[in-house]
Amino acid sequence: MKIICIGRNYTAHINELENEKPEEPVVFIKPDSSVLPKQQDFYIPEFSNDVHYEVEVLVKIKKVGKHISKEFAPTYYDEVGLGIDFTARDLQSKLKEKGLPWEKAKGFDGAAVIGEWLPKKDFKDINDLNFKLVKNNEIVQEGNTSLMLWKIDEIIAYVSTFFMLKKGDIIFTGTPAGVGKISPNDYLSGSLEDKELFTLKIK
Ligand code: ZN
Repeated sequence: MKIICIGRNYTAHINELENEKPEEPVVFIKPDSSVLPKQQDFYIPEFSNDVHYEVEVLVKIKKVGKHISKEFAPTYYDEVGLGIDFTARDLQSKLKEKGLPWEKAKGFDGAAVIGEWLPKKDFKDINDLNFKLVKNNEIVQEGNTSLMLWKIDEIIAYVSTFFMLKKGDIIFTGTPAGVGKISPNDYLSGSLEDKELFTLKIK
């Protein structure tokens, strides 16, 4: 199983990090070892002093596909979810400056939080889903999938021209504005259309 992540997919988040708006989706991969086991707390790794949360809508791929067209993309997933793309921002900034790959900043153990899954058919429009992240009872990130630069089906079409998608692969579709630092004893919870899909303690 692999995790394919899209970066810079919401204009407001591109602006907050002062990144350029990309001409094509920014794509990176997290290894399967980055998945935080269910019910486990997240331990801030010792190599970073600035780990950020990024709440993101997820889709789970249900069958093998390559060069998938946008029109057929909906037949490749039945489940949507919510997760966190934890990012060691200090490390990522150093790597970005040097033009080096981001993996160490985004693919470390526990850096992929994956919440409960919901059937796609429960939602009228996959391109109009509200989601939010709450930190210690305060809403820190709010988004709607309509604000994505590349919508879910376009993402599937795009990434499948480079990577064969396999059953069980997960796509992280990018984060809206409001990313920020986590500290020990923070408590996070993520909701998709008011259904809470994960809670998490930071250690
Ligand atoms: Zn992200």
